[in-house]
Amino acid sequence: MQYWIGLGSNIGDGPAQITQALNHLESTGLVSVCRRSGCYRSAPWGVLDQPEFTNAVALLESDLGPLSLLDHLQRVEQAMGRRRDERRWGPRVIDLDLLLAGEQILRLKRLVLPHPQLHRRRFVLQPLAELEPDLRIPARGVVRHLLRRLPEQGVRLVSR
Ligand code: AMP
Repeated sequence: MQYWIGLGSNIGDGPAQITQALNHLESTGLVSVCRRSGCYRSAPWGVLDQPEFTNAVALLESDLGPLSLLDHLQRVEQAMGRRRDERRWGPRVIDLDLLLAGEQILRLKRLVLPHPQLHRRRFVLQPLAELEPDLRIPARGVVRHLLRRLPEQGVRLVSR
């Protein structure tokens, strides 16, 4: 099964932490990283008095089901020092979101797919468009069309 995930960090070296998270995800043998975008920097979202975020997306291949993959993402967040009591949208070493599981639509308490904010966030849509502009987000539309409709949010590519 193929999954798209979003990665974000705003404490320490963002691009290095994103690479480290992808290495962690692969290290158990449960997941392989097929493709990853460059790193994009943007102003914080939600809570504004904090450092800028670095974001990227990656395409994973895994035999895990969506909930087991979410467990795996959360284990990696914890292994990298993420605390669950961090304030919502506050500073974080690493944030891993499950964006898409193919065309699946899920509305569980722990997991909503496609990710509910995905279509509103340039810091997710720009890296997705870099890799797959024609990707279809179920019930939302095609990545490059969604991106055209969004206001400028100051997202810029900082490294490949
Ligand atoms: P956050 O702290 O912002 O990363 O939010 C994590 C919480 O959102 C967890 O409790 C997850 O169970 C829940 N959640 C719901 N849908 C998703 C999703 N698509 N990806 C990641 N977390 C999700």
